[in-house]
Parts: sequence; structure tokens; C-alpha cells
Amino acid sequence: MKNLIDILDLSVQEIDEMIEVANDIIDHPEKYREACNYKTLATLFFEPSTRTRLSFEAAMLELGGRVLGFSEASSSSAAKGESVADTIAVCCGYSDIIAMRHPKEGAPLVASAKATVPIINAGDGGHNHPTQTLTDLLTIKREKGHFNDLTIGLCGDLKFGRTVHSLIAAMSRYSGIKFVLISPEELKVPSYVKNAYIKSKNIPYEQTIALENVIDKLDVLYMTRVQRERFFNEEDYLRLKDCYVLTPEKMAMAKKDLIVLHPLPRVNEISVAVDDDPRACYFRQARYGKFIRMALIMKLLEEANK
Ligand code: ASP
Repeated sequence: MKNLIDILDLSVQEIDEMIEVANDIIDHPEKYREACNYKTLATLFFEPSTRTRLSFEAAMLELGGRVLGFSEASSSSAAKGESVADTIAVCCGYSDIIAMRHPKEGAPLVASAKATVPIINAGDGGHNHPTQTLTDLLTIKREKGHFNDLTIGLCGDLKFGRTVHSLIAAMSRYSGIKFVLISPEELKVPSYVKNAYIKSKNIPYEQTIALENVIDKLDVLYMTRVQRERFFNEEDYLRLKDCYVLTPEKMAMAKKDLIVLHPLPRVNEISVAVDDDPRACYFRQARYGKFIRMALIMKLLEEANK
């Protein structure tokens, strides 16, 4: 049985195929309306979410399936001290596929060892977020047309931002990629990510704290929020929270065909005045998340039935 715990659980070819399916769903949604009849998705969210949980649920409903789950740990038996492994063992009896989010890094992997249905990592602590990366990849494909030869700027909280880690892993498999890592000193990409996906593959990269010095060379700008919930003290968060604000003035320095992505939620890091710029893709990106999750659910259920 196949799970999606890490974006690299999927080959480049599998991702291409899923992107093709997602594009077909966008063009012909009616073809997929009964694809998951009588199947149930459980969304087990031990941490807050808007887009990921709702797009998973919308995805399953649009495939003709059913959904159940919880949206906060406090309304589950986790609040009584139940282990993740026990919760999963039980929920496998109520569902055909599970999407779970948990504040502890590695929790979905632990869950997958116990599970009898496919497990999807919908975000584990400051570690990974593979389905956000599928969303990001579909967005890049639709907006730029290809994955190769792109200079990708990642800006903001590159330390705790799990979407950044998964996106770096995914993009490191394409050719002609350059990374520009834009963050304050304290929020740099963890060295395990840099070593595994950038240095070991000799991918060119630069690190800077100044967005305005590098924005002109980027093809993709991936903005992120400073991850308040992962900070050990509020003082550090307050000092760092507004370290980047993308404004129309900065956008004026960028390429005409730049695309700006953000996994959302946005706090202050993109001025709302940027939203009307055609290069601002983040709301389209959030919409694409539903279609790629439809493709993922179908794929994992199909594999589970083999
Ligand atoms: N929604 C994304 C996540 O769950 C990004 C964020 O929260 O900043 O990681």
C-alpha cells in the first residue's frame, strides 16, 4: 500500500501523471463525479488548517465520496492522552483513506506503520507538507509551463516553514534549477534540508537577507509566513515577524513573468496591494490545491485496491 508521507515518495513521473489528471479534472469535472462513490476520507487534524483540510474534503465530496474527521486535537481523544498509533488503528476501521496533520514531526510516518489504509501527511510540525508541494507544482506547471531552468526564490521563515522543505526536495529533481534563499539569519533553511537536496546535488544557490537585492533575477518567488506557533519565545517572533513585506514597489523591480506563490495564510508578508498584480498567483494556487488532491486521492485508492 502506498502512503504519501514525503514528497519524494512520488516519482517525477507519478507527479507528472497526477498533474495531467488534475488538469483534466479542471477541464472536465463531470467525468470524475462518481470516481470515489462509497469511499470515505478521514481528515484527522491535530493542528489548525483552512485550505488543506477543506480542500481535501471538497476534493473527496467532488469525487462522490464521503468525509469524516476532526479539526482540532482538543475534540479528539488525543485530549484524553490517546496515542497517534491508537487513534489511527481505530480510524482505519471507519475510512478508506486518511489525511492527517500533526504538530509532531514524523507523526504521519508513525501512523503509516500502524495503518491498514493509505495515510497522507497533511503537514507534520516544522518538517514536511507534501500535498502543499503538489499544489505548488501544479501552480508552477500551469503558470510557467515547465519545471526546468527556473530560479526560485524562497523568502521568509525557511527554518520552520515545512512547505519550503518539501518544495526544495521536489524542485531539486529538475534540471537547471537555482535556489535563492532569502531569510534572516535565525530563520535559514535547516542544514539537513540544504545538505540533502541542494549541496549533495550541486545545485547552485545563494543565501541573502535582502529580498530587494535579488528579486530581479527570480522566475518564482515563494513567500512564507513567520511560523509563530513554532517559536520558543514570543519576543523572537515579534522581532522577526515583519522582516519581509512584498509591496508593489518591490514588484516593480521584478521580471514581468515572475510568479508569486504563497502557501497561505498570509499575515503581513505580502501587501494586499500586490493581490491585483497578475503575477500574484496565491489565490489561484489555493484553488488548484483541490484538484491535485482529487488526483492524489484517486491514485492512492487505486493503488490500495491492487
Ligand atoms: N498552510 C501552510 C502550512 O500548513 C503554511 C503556513 O501555515 O504558513 O504549513
